[in-house]
This record gives sequence, structure tokens and C-alpha cells, in this order.
Amino acid sequence: MISRHVAVIGAGAAGLVAARELRREGHRVVVFERGSRVGGTWVYTPGTERDPLGIDPSRPVVHSSLYKSLRTNLPREVMGFGDYPFLPRADGSGDSRRYPAHEEVLAYLEDFAREFGLEELLRFEEEIVGVGMADERGKWKVTWRTRNGGGDGGREEEVFDAVVVCNGHYTEPRIAEITGIDLWPGKQMHSHNYRTSEPFRDLVVVVIGSATSAVDISRDIAKVAKEVHVASRSYEVEPLGIQSGYDNLWLHPMIEKAHEDGKVTFLDGSFVGVDIILHCTGYKYHFPFLETNGIVSINDNRVGPLYKHVFPPHLAPWLSFVGLPWKAIPFPQFEYQSKWIAGVLSGRIALPSEEEMMEDVKDLYSQLEASGVPKRYTHNVADSQFEYNDWLAVQSGSRLSEEWRKEMYSETIRKMRARPVVYRDEDIEETLVSQAHEDFTKLPLHR
Ligand SMILES: Cc1cc2nc3c(=O)[nH]c(=O)nc-3n(C[C@H](O)[C@H](O)[C@H](O)COP(=O)(O)OP(=O)(O)OC[C@H]3O[C@@H](n4cnc5c(N)ncnc54)[C@H](O)[C@@H]3O)c2cc1C
Repeated sequence: MISRHVAVIGAGAAGLVAARELRREGHRVVVFERGSRVGGTWVYTPGTERDPLGIDPSRPVVHSSLYKSLRTNLPREVMGFGDYPFLPRADGSGDSRRYPAHEEVLAYLEDFAREFGLEELLRFEEEIVGVGMADERGKWKVTWRTRNGGGDGGREEEVFDAVVVCNGHYTEPRIAEITGIDLWPGKQMHSHNYRTSEPFRDLVVVVIGSATSAVDISRDIAKVAKEVHVASRSYEVEPLGIQSGYDNLWLHPMIEKAHEDGKVTFLDGSFVGVDIILHCTGYKYHFPFLETNGIVSINDNRVGPLYKHVFPPHLAPWLSFVGLPWKAIPFPQFEYQSKWIAGVLSGRIALPSEEEMMEDVKDLYSQLEASGVPKRYTHNVADSQFEYNDWLAVQSGSRLSEEWRKEMYSETIRKMRARPVVYRDEDIEETLVSQAHEDFTKLPLHR
């Protein structure tokens, strides 16, 4: 097996597991992290960006989009890595709930890094600002800026055989387009900059969106706001109108128009005078450091072309991405992708030819187009995540997804849709829980 010099960008869950798998395969790994600790998204920060919509490209970026009250939206059994389960701490400290608060996830990722000695691979406060082809054929020139010591620090560079991009994709906000918004006098914010409900006290708020963040945040705000109006393109989520259990929370179809006098009208004809619009409308992929001469590009949130969401055929295997798919269980999928990348880089696993990989990408695009799926859903693997994981597992010779994980995940999604406010405190099918825990006891590293 060939040992490569590999740069990993980011020390969130994806970067950590990529580093572990790459080193396990015998590669020499450096992980660049612009922050000062591991955990990425799970490093909660009370501070927000100066531009509440997060669209000013010159703004100093705050990485994490976590809000203070956030609890996981997946049960801990489902969420954890394959051979390092996310269990409550043996000494009883921390948050032992099945859907714990965010601090518990950060502690788990810190434990993971410590357990596998990943710290020695990490370089903190080094922000990657350039990844381009080096003069030496097939290699990458990686440029970073040191952020410690206050100022911007100097720029340095090093040549690597391969680069694995793990920079996360929940930092660069997507904003809803609203007719009339330019003349509307109220304030706007993206959920990336939402931390607590206090700034919304006594205000009339419109929350746009229907995914987990919109559900959590609208309920958080309803505790203190005068009125909360949730506008969503999705009619199926729950019945429209006033929400049961609240006297100040309404669900509407999408906004029709924002008006100069401060009113906002909805597509159902209702209207309300609004102080602030909060966009819980998701995020964009963003790789400001990547210089591939157009070989990899982003078009309507499709990153491509990428073979199996990981390798650009023309640059494979020397450039790869971990963690692009969404609507999936993140940590185990990062692990499957990382094992595959590590094995391909060492020569243990063969990739198809560039032409074959391009054909596969084109087939996916044709299928999506034929089914009327917009480009921006290219990396949505909701219906195929286990099939995709199993495909990756077969490539790298690792275990397939556990049946209990699949079933527990389906049960969670069903409950989340039916009872988005209380599902986290409901019991989970006991047999699935015992199967999971029985599996954990068989792992070499039982915690
Ligand atoms: C609000 C919210 C709630 C979520 N809830 C859950 C949940 O309940 N369960 C779950 O499993 N998942 C959840 N997720 C998904 C979560 O994003 C993933 O679990 C996972 O943390 C993503 O890991 P990552 O490593 O891909 O990205 P991140 O965690 O974002 O890490 C990326 C890292 O890259 C670093 N970085 C970025 N750019 C550079 C650069 N140029 N140079 C150097 N370093 C750089 C960042 O500082 C960061 O440390 C949630 C996400 C959000 C936003």
C-alpha cells in the first residue's frame, strides 16, 4: 500500500474521521483547522456575524450555526460512528438523554479525537486560503494563513499528494427571495445568526422554513415574542393556522409580498405587520479556497461533477470531499466515505476510469432531471442513504449499515414529522435499542 501526504481541511466530525481512516491506511496526514478546537459545527459560540443575513462576503465568518437550546435531532445510538458509539458517560456526567444538548456532541467528538490520538495531526488556527495544482504534476499546493496572535498572520504553503475537503456546509446562508423586500422597512436575519430568543421579545416575527431549525426556533421564539408566523412552501408539515398548544404561533403558506408599510402578505391572503423576518432557509456549499480552473464548480448548490458525491473524475483521487450529502445520518456516512478515500489513495481500492466515472455522474444528473428534481437537491440522499453507505462499505470492505440503525432512523423521522415538538422525549422501540446496545458490546472499543 502506498503512503500519501494528505491535507485534510477542517477538524469537524468529517475531518476527524477522515484523519483517523487515512492514518489507519498508512497515510501521512495534516489536518488544517481555522478554529482553535475540534468539533466544527458543534463548537457553540454566543457571538454572531455583523451582517445578520450573512451575505456580506467581506464579513468575518462565525463558523457554527448552533443555537443555545439545540438538542440533537437524531437519537445518540443512530448518530455515532460505527465503532465508537455515542453513549452516555460512564461516570454520569454530561447529558445522558437520548437526544442530548449540543455540548454533549462536542464532548463526544473531543473524546473521539483523544481516543485515537488525532491531536498530533491537527494544526489549529490555520485557515486554508488556497488549494491549487502545484507545478509538480498531480500534486496540490496548499496555502494557509495563520490566525493566531490576533492579526491575520502570514501565509505559508506546502505541497501535498492529495487534499480531502471537510469544511462543512452549514455556514454560508441561503436567503429566500421575497417580492418587495427592498422597500420593506423591517429587519431580516438568517438562522445562522440565531442564538437565543431574547432579541425577539414582544416582536412580531415571520420565520421562513419548515425544517428542523425552523420548527425549533419558531417554538423557542414563541415563548417571548408577541406573534410568530411561520411561512413554509411545504403544506404537509402540519395543519395551517394557529398551532395547538400556542396562542401566538401561526403556520402560513409562503410569503406573497413584503410591503413598504411593514406588512407581509401570505399566499393564503392573510397579512400581518412584521418587525423581523428570520430566514431558516438552509445553506450553500462554499469552497472559497478551491482553485481548480473550473473543473469543480457549484451550480445552484450542485457541486460537480463528483463521482458518488466524493471524487471529481478528472482530479480523482487527489481531490475529494467528505460530508456533502444531506438528509442523511452524518457521522457514519462520513466514516464510510473516509474509508473509501483512504483505500483508493493507498491503491488498495481501484476507481473506474475517468470516463466511466463521468458517465455515472451524467446518469445521476439525467435521472434527477427526468424525475423533476432541481439541481440543488443533487446531494439530497434521503431516499438512498443506506444503499449509498452500503455501496461505499462494499468498496472498502467494511461492515454494512446495521438494521437497527436503519429502523431507528425511520422511526425517528416518522415521529419528528408527526410530533416535531415532543418527539425527542418519546421512547424508542425497545427491541431496536437493545439490538443497538448488544452490537456496541461486541465492538473492540466498548465504552
Ligand atoms: C443547526 C444544526 C443542527 C444539526 N443537528 C444535527 C444533529 O442533531 N445530528 C447530526 O448528526 N447532525 C446534525 N447537524 C449536522 C452537522 O453539521 C454534522 O453533524 C457535522 O457536524 C458536520 O461535520 P463537518 O465536519 O462536515 O462540518 P463542520 O462541523 O462544519 O466542520 C467543518 C470544520 O472546517 C473548518 N474550516 C472551514 N473552512 C476552513 C478553512 N478554509 N481552513 C481550515 N478550516 C476550515 C471549520 O472551522 C470547522 O471546524 C446539524 C447541523 C446544524 C447546522
